[in-house]
Amino acid sequence: MAIKIHPAVDNGVKPGNSDFAGGTLTCLCTSQPVTVSLKGNTAFNHVCGCSKCWKPQGALFSMVAVIPRDKLSVTANGNKLKIVDEKAPIQRHACTGCGAHMYGRIELKAHPFYGFDFVHTELSKDSGWSAPDFAAFVSSIIESGFPPAKMGEVRARLKELKLEPYDCLSPALMDLIATHAAKQRGTLAA
Ligand SMILES: [Zn+2]
Ligand SMILES: [Zn+2]
Repeated sequence: MAIKIHPAVDNGVKPGNSDFAGGTLTCLCTSQPVTVSLKGNTAFNHVCGCSKCWKPQGALFSMVAVIPRDKLSVTANGNKLKIVDEKAPIQRHACTGCGAHMYGRIELKAHPFYGFDFVHTELSKDSGWSAPDFAAFVSSIIESGFPPAKMGEVRARLKELKLEPYDCLSPALMDLIATHAAKQRGTLAA
């Protein structure tokens, strides 16, 4: 049996729709759920093996994408949200009722990803969200207790799903981070 990565991709990655105009994320609470409206599609959707991203029960990876922060608004029951770790660069706003992370926000203006919020579109019933197309921080699943000897199977399954496995972020995102650093240092023109 194939290794389970995340429920949204285990039966094959569903393609996104480039004309998709956004939708609503709803937390898992059965009463008074938190809702978040996204006015536009997400970008850089991927599965992530780090231990900080929120993932559904039993999943090895989370699925996480970004959207410009001015396109995100909390539309109901925002009083249930609490920041998981105020000191983390990404402030993850989680529902205190069900634990789902509704969005992660960067307040540090010097951060390479400042201006983008991190969201989990599996919390939406709408379809058309950008599809995940790579796997980040794959080796980090070991830190959450995954047996190192089975990493070959995980990477093979990710490749089969066309989610190229990386042990950091994808080359496109690593290049963005390095470009940001070079501009701050003045080694590249801003
Ligand atoms: Zn992560
Ligand atoms: Zn909730």
